[in-house]
Amino acid sequence: MIHPRIKELSAYKTETTPCKVKLSSNELPIKFPEEVKRKIGEVVSSLPLNRYPDPQASELKEVIAKRFGVSTDNLVLGNGSDELIQYLTIAVGEINSPVLYPIPTFPMYGICATALGREKVEVPLKEDLDLDLEALLRAVEEKRPSLAFFSYPNNPTGNCFREDAIKRVRQEGVFTVIDEAYYHFSGKTFLADALQREDTVVLRTLSKIGLAGLRVGVLIAKEEIAREINKLRLPFNITYPSQVIAKLMLEDFYPIIEEHVQMVLRERERLMRELSKIEGVKVFPSDANFFLFKTPYPAGLVHAELIKEGVLVRDVSYLPNLENCLRVSVGFPEENDQFLQAMQRVMKRLC
Ligand code: PMP
Repeated sequence: MIHPRIKELSAYKTETTPCKVKLSSNELPIKFPEEVKRKIGEVVSSLPLNRYPDPQASELKEVIAKRFGVSTDNLVLGNGSDELIQYLTIAVGEINSPVLYPIPTFPMYGICATALGREKVEVPLKEDLDLDLEALLRAVEEKRPSLAFFSYPNNPTGNCFREDAIKRVRQEGVFTVIDEAYYHFSGKTFLADALQREDTVVLRTLSKIGLAGLRVGVLIAKEEIAREINKLRLPFNITYPSQVIAKLMLEDFYPIIEEHVQMVLRERERLMRELSKIEGVKVFPSDANFFLFKTPYPAGLVHAELIKEGVLVRDVSYLPNLENCLRVSVGFPEENDQFLQAMQRVMKRLC
């Protein structure tokens, strides 16, 4: 029998409508040059696919450790950071103690908690979309959560929360996960804390730097913590192709990735500036490769009208505090132009 708590779960949703311009999943706009694709073909075609891959993904770990300026002993790799969120939810605290996180945020924190039968303590953000410290402290006192997740920057709101509020919650004895999936666009990190403290870990991912298809997530923690989490990692969770392609990309082609991250940062500023010039559109600040915007119209309607124009964004208006809001990822300059033109037409049609 399937447990009722699983029956009540709704699976993680993604936008699947096929559209010419897809700005819905916070992916990096990047097309790898032919030379890169050829090299990927070479390394993949020489793999002994009848063999299991290295269970430790040691060579890839070496390269990631170098890139992130840590030791391999500080790392746990996951099949995306999604898997690492699940491991943390299994490993940290008593299984009957609650999991704390602000809302709206990345849905996997809640999905993993529910899947494991842990109570969820969801604390709404303030109207300015930052943490409500008083409410968080009240929730900690009342519910005694052992584990907290902070998406930093937060998906879907795009902002990095007040650092002092996160630290204040942690001070109450709550093991704190700082999910830095969008670190490359914010430059803000709790890495130093993760390397020094036993109550803090940082999550990163290769997904937002052009390699979402490889499914490689990275947990960074003190050696003692990383060692424990590694014990529950499924043995071959990073596939052979993912290990060799990720290693190749980070070792030999990293400048291409960095160039595209810089392009997104430039385009983010331009796109936000241009979008906010359209009458009736409010743009929210962002430290990520996406941002929120709001119109006076129902977001479902704007979303549908944009699809008619061939542009896919994410409707996030069903989430608390995000009435009439949509989330758009920053794309290639030409995709951003198409989105802007589509928005101009849609807003004219709706007024
Ligand atoms: N954390 C956050 C905040 C995210 O937005 C995402 C992906 N949308 C993830 C984690 C999961 O990333 P991955 O592809 O590494 O599983």
